[in-house]
Amino acid sequence: MATYDLLVIGGGTAGLVTAAGSAGIGARVALVERDRLGGECLWNGCVPSKALIAAARAAVEVRTADRYGVRTHEVETDFAAAMRWVRTAQQRIAPNDSPERFRGLGVDVIPGEARFTGPRSIRVDGRPIAARRIVIATGSAPAVPPIPGLSEVPYVTNESIFSLTGLPRRLVVLGGGPIGLELAQAFARLGSEVNVIEAASQLLPREDAELVAVLGERLRAEGVRLHLGVKAARVERGPEGSGVRVTATPSGNDHAAGSFPLDGDVLLVATGRTPRLDALDLARGGVEAGQGGVTVDAGLRTTAEAVWAAGDCVGPLRFTHVADYQARLVIRNAFFPFASRADYSVVPWVTFTEPELARVGLTEAEARERHGDGVCVWRRPFAEVDRAITDGETSGLVKLVTTARGKLLGGHVLGHGAGSLIGEITLAMKHGIPAQSLGNTMHAYPTYPEAIRQAAEQYTKARFTGALKRVVNWYVRR
Ligand SMILES: Cc1cc2nc3c(=O)[nH]c(=O)nc-3n(C[C@H](O)[C@H](O)[C@H](O)COP(=O)(O)OP(=O)(O)OC[C@H]3O[C@@H](n4cnc5c(N)ncnc54)[C@H](O)[C@@H]3O)c2cc1C
Repeated sequence: MATYDLLVIGGGTAGLVTAAGSAGIGARVALVERDRLGGECLWNGCVPSKALIAAARAAVEVRTADRYGVRTHEVETDFAAAMRWVRTAQQRIAPNDSPERFRGLGVDVIPGEARFTGPRSIRVDGRPIAARRIVIATGSAPAVPPIPGLSEVPYVTNESIFSLTGLPRRLVVLGGGPIGLELAQAFARLGSEVNVIEAASQLLPREDAELVAVLGERLRAEGVRLHLGVKAARVERGPEGSGVRVTATPSGNDHAAGSFPLDGDVLLVATGRTPRLDALDLARGGVEAGQGGVTVDAGLRTTAEAVWAAGDCVGPLRFTHVADYQARLVIRNAFFPFASRADYSVVPWVTFTEPELARVGLTEAEARERHGDGVCVWRRPFAEVDRAITDGETSGLVKLVTTARGKLLGGHVLGHGAGSLIGEITLAMKHGIPAQSLGNTMHAYPTYPEAIRQAAEQYTKARFTGALKRVVNWYVRR
């Protein structure tokens, strides 16, 4: 039986980063993957969704080019060609995650499903493998809610929607979270009639309510029908025997009062994620898990001494960059003394709607809950930012949440390219750069990041009151 220094289960971002990094420091590494290396991000998640969003954005840019004086004739979208674009993007990225590349790095890539047989051993399709350390990186799967009738009708999730061969005329989306909204807008832009059902009273319930409200208006203006505070009470075949009918009922209402039907040719279930731990036989490895995922300590070690876990199968934040961060932490803690603790206090993330919604740190509501009424908020709408005006991209704003002394507690950007803009605020928060320093840092004109400086500058302007203002006024007029 081969004995490795480290064995990784799962070849998504968390597993690939762990395997490559461990091989890089000289460990003998095995990587077991039951499907394709690359995981959810490459095949069913970030990459295909962002490629489809790019295709949908192109359709809108052409449709709205008139406002720049560019006359276009009728715009036709070709769904099959858009899907070819999605495949092209995947194929261009795939070599980074390929078995050939990892074998070249010295990793033994073993196809098959891993199952624990002991605290330092697994079996892959009947073959026993032992390792001094094991890392679980098996990701997450779509969480499908127990809605009456759902299991009897065809529906898609992120695992199957990118295999559609035709554009659905009517798409019903269950879930107004990031996955549901990104795909709802993309399909609407490509020509589908889209209805979104969200049980909470706010879309993207985790995000800053003020910015989400602006995003909701924009989605509605583009024709996406949003049903908030509504849950799917029942799902059945459509009235003509094809497609689906969802009976939507106001949340918290156990009776049929207020119910209404929503018909779709395709139903997308995007109601959250669940850790993918089936088939692992965790108990045999001495590894415990709960609803949220594998149980780990602050250094990502599981309840078994020689087993660590990283990525979506752990949480608490299910993003590719968090999986990458956790994998690097696991390498450090699995091979070296003095374990480091995972720190999730400055984690940026982005919902890739248009405009994009990006955030880092606390929302205004979270900051007030933790830090009380002394919390300050500084805003700059893109409608007042020159570059946004020249580009016609004025939806949204930058919102900074600080303490009274200017320490950044959170940053939120709704706007064109918000996902790139959040990097500056993330850097400032990570390195303790206060609002006053952001506000007096020169930014190139005319650019979108000026909005961050202008929001931050308001902190300094707001401080220019009372005695300080009187002294300066006296000095100027003396
Ligand atoms: C539609 C969608 C869009 C997204 N967009 C973004 C985005 O824009 N930005 C972002 O940061 N994140 C995004 N995410 C989240 C991102 O995809 C995940 O956070 C990331 O893929 C997690 O990586 P992972 O390595 O933990 O898991 P995964 O990528 O899921 O990899 C786990 C791997 O383990 C394998 N496996 C499971 N069980 C076994 C077993 N027993 N034996 C062997 N192999 C096994 C699986 O086949 C899989 O390949 C998106 C997700 C979705 C669904």
